[in-house]
Amino acid sequence: MNRYVGVLSKEYDPKSVENEVKELWEQDSTYELVTKMRMRGPKFYFLDGPPFPSSDTPHIGTCWNKVLKDTVIRYKRARGFNVRDQPGYDCHGLPIELAIEQKFGVKTKKDIESFGLERFISECKQFAESNSGSMTHVFQDLGVWMDWAKPYMTHHDDYIESDWWSLKQAWSKGLFEHGQRVVHWCPRCETVLSDYEVVLDYKMLRDPSIYVKFPVEGKPNEFVLIWTTTPWTLPSNVAVMVNPDFQYCRARSGGDVFILARERVQHVEDQTGTRLEVLESFPGTKLEGLKYRSPLESLVPAQANLKDAHSVVLSREYVTLDEGTGCVHSAPGHGEEDYEVGLRYGLPVMMLVNDQGRFVAEAGKYAGKPVRDANPEVIEDLKSLGMLLQASEIEHRSPVCWRCKTPLIIRATDQWLIRVAHLKDRFMKEVESTLWIPNWAGANQFKNWLQNLKDWVVSRQRFWGTPLPVWVCSSCENTQVMGSKAELLENAVSATDVPSLHMPWVDKVKLRCKCGGEMTRIPDVMVGWYDSGAASYACLSHPKNPELTEMWWPADFIVEGRDQISGWFFSLLKAGIVAMDRPPFKTVLMHGFVLDDMGREMHKSLGNFVTSDEVVQKFGRDIFRYYVLQSTIWEDLRFSWDALKQYSGDLSTFWNTFVFASTYMNLDKFSPAKWPLRKLARALRPEDRWLLSRTHRTIREVTSAMDEYRVHEALRKLKTFLVEDLSHTYVRFIRRRTWVEKETRDKLAAYATLCHALETALVMLAPILPFLSESLYQHMFRESEPKQPKTVHLLDWPEYDAKWVNDSLDAEMEAARAILSTTAVARMAKGLKQRQPVRNVVVATDSKTARNAITTYSSLLEEQANTHNLTRVSKRAASRYESEASSGRYGKAEFADGSVYIDLKLTKDELAEGLARDAVRRMQQMRKEMDLRVDSYVHAYIVAPSEPTASSLRSKAKYLAREVRAKRLAVSTRKSTVKAPFYTKTWQIDGETYEFGLCEVSRLKERSARR
Ligand SMILES: [Zn+2]
Ligand SMILES: [Zn+2]
Repeated sequence: MNRYVGVLSKEYDPKSVENEVKELWEQDSTYELVTKMRMRGPKFYFLDGPPFPSSDTPHIGTCWNKVLKDTVIRYKRARGFNVRDQPGYDCHGLPIELAIEQKFGVKTKKDIESFGLERFISECKQFAESNSGSMTHVFQDLGVWMDWAKPYMTHHDDYIESDWWSLKQAWSKGLFEHGQRVVHWCPRCETVLSDYEVVLDYKMLRDPSIYVKFPVEGKPNEFVLIWTTTPWTLPSNVAVMVNPDFQYCRARSGGDVFILARERVQHVEDQTGTRLEVLESFPGTKLEGLKYRSPLESLVPAQANLKDAHSVVLSREYVTLDEGTGCVHSAPGHGEEDYEVGLRYGLPVMMLVNDQGRFVAEAGKYAGKPVRDANPEVIEDLKSLGMLLQASEIEHRSPVCWRCKTPLIIRATDQWLIRVAHLKDRFMKEVESTLWIPNWAGANQFKNWLQNLKDWVVSRQRFWGTPLPVWVCSSCENTQVMGSKAELLENAVSATDVPSLHMPWVDKVKLRCKCGGEMTRIPDVMVGWYDSGAASYACLSHPKNPELTEMWWPADFIVEGRDQISGWFFSLLKAGIVAMDRPPFKTVLMHGFVLDDMGREMHKSLGNFVTSDEVVQKFGRDIFRYYVLQSTIWEDLRFSWDALKQYSGDLSTFWNTFVFASTYMNLDKFSPAKWPLRKLARALRPEDRWLLSRTHRTIREVTSAMDEYRVHEALRKLKTFLVEDLSHTYVRFIRRRTWVEKETRDKLAAYATLCHALETALVMLAPILPFLSESLYQHMFRESEPKQPKTVHLLDWPEYDAKWVNDSLDAEMEAARAILSTTAVARMAKGLKQRQPVRNVVVATDSKTARNAITTYSSLLEEQANTHNLTRVSKRAASRYESEASSGRYGKAEFADGSVYIDLKLTKDELAEGLARDAVRRMQQMRKEMDLRVDSYVHAYIVAPSEPTASSLRSKAKYLAREVRAKRLAVSTRKSTVKAPFYTKTWQIDGETYEFGLCEVSRLKERSARR
């Protein structure tokens, strides 16, 4: 093995780099090695938010999510942490049931039962497992290092047991109970939806808008006037709500008198075209208790039989003057607000709608109809009964089922819930004890969401989920909650084992009741959000392995998209506090969405769906990672192929910088181990010390960004360092030093500096670009020191060393760069080529920093400005150059701190030097075209257009030969007769034609010549 720096391939080819690295990792079991080596470090519990395996291809946003996690995990490992990195999948849920229903043409819950529940559940399980397997491949392919061999799966029995355990905790604390709640309901899926599912999807729906007359008891021709957009809820009407703070009135229209809010009279007149003559006004309180009759009592037996209802009640909160008449039709079975007010007044909850969203028998004439389909009929009936004032239509945004797109209905149902509404203050406090990044994610968004904290309805009327572990006795209604499989079997009537804790197997287990009766499980399953919410302890199989929980819980870090404010973050906190009495995470990072370039969400149906695989095919894995990671984490990323392409250029620049270093260091057999910086401290030039200062400043900045999970900021700092400081500046500065053939301390100092900067950058790049950095490490550095760790991912994070940071060197370099770019501008204005050396460059400035820069970096500035002499004067002393500039003898350009003057008068020698440099550039270009090694020698000839140009070039023959590594160089004016093996080319220089010819001196011959 070499003891010096290895060589890299010239071009950055992401595919071959990545495939080679993947093979290496596989062959060396690199992931296992890295995790093992860090096992003794301090613990860091990263908790993966489990994606939902509803398809075999993860959304590109999920890939961003995983890459972000991987970057954090790799960083923590480089810092020495023992990271818990178990990924997870959220395997239960209705979308999977729906996919299986579609696959087998099953439509309703009844169909599923005849299809066979056992088979249905097995299909769901297989679907979830096969999709999560495919997703794992995609994540692994992107270089995401997690414990893919052992992901937590929410449908595994041990996970379910942990769910059960936590529910039992809630039960024993009196927080888990059965009760009536008004919920959003999907009539097709026949189940309740969560509030956070309801906000997922809306559709514009056309609905009726009707004004209905409720006849006042004992007052013929007098009516309470209400407005509604859900005529189908009128058969369930129980009361009318008015606001005690508003003024109401009786208003006449023809023979009828209406009761409505005074302030709504004008609106109702406009909407219905009815003239209303106000007879008297009075406060809303006067209406409390006013009795009326249901307009549908003759058609709906349930209405006719209703007791203790049909009177006016008061509500300050839920009656507004924004719409309608100020008199609100109230059906406690179909509105949360109605339900709440009804509870206060002890009103009955009328429920005439079944699970399929159809009217039941007590709804009389509407029995059997889907509720929304009954709307026209209800309106027709009201009209023929003389109870309709006016009917029209409105279009409004209505929630639909996010899974099947059916419009949702609101209905009161019996559900199992976890009482948390009363814990709002506690939750608010926990938000403050957690670190949120960005801060507003917690302080605003999460807290806002918590304002509506309600009891958590955890039951679902479906099949593919964690069965609710609740058994009820058929004789005495005694209820028991099972906290584990063992407890279940202990209490079982006969079962000694159960093959799976899923339905239908678990339902075969009956329990003995203390009354002697038999207990049966309730049919519900648990909402999927409870599964994922329990992840912090369920992935540790708590409480089966108390030592694991002791070791890890709670999670140090979680990161998910902004939709998880109302989703996973919320569920985690609830499930954590209910079961463990503590928040289950310490730090939350929130990221944005990946949208298309127009800012729309990506959907297969919109045709704007891009997968990470496509990006990898076209550009590569590292470029995908780099592109998503540069985006400000908490903002949305608008995906654009053009932008992606631009960012890919950065990676080529990184690569080329390393190629430059590896090429020259290798030629010079530079050994970083033999020549560490400290041995060369005295040989360091100011620009070397400047780069070291920048290196350590970058370490400090990147480290603090990574510590605060601002990955995009860390990436941007690294980019500036690699592109601006290294590639555009330092590498240019040291080019001439690396051409010197002898092993001078000056050259070694440049190499040692560059090497330190590159190695440092490499370790910091590794979490972001794991493939590219590994390849650079293996080929360039590890070669030189076989004792180094086997992988770049085992290198320790670079240590910041304050002794290298030098503020004045940095500021002076800024000034030096400004002087150099101003010189270039002044040259350009006079058509003077950069390669033409000039005698004098004068910088007129009063800035202390700029003046110091000229002292500190004098030789660098002279070389880079291509002048024999760079001087500085005060602005006052510049008047001489100012007049020379107006006479045309000097060129001039200005910068923030002063002006730069360039002597335009050129001697014969300077012109010859300029021409020679032009010639060198062409011949170097030709060397590249010939694909010569940097250190190989050539024979060369030049045919100049005239004797004076030829003699100019001859006067610089030594310089020419050195720069193009020519053993022999001939300059003439005669057209050449030389043929192959010479590579020849003609070039235009200053409008004249030159011919150049190069031929490689065989390396073999060269070696024997040297002997
Ligand atoms: Zn649905
Ligand atoms: Zn019993």
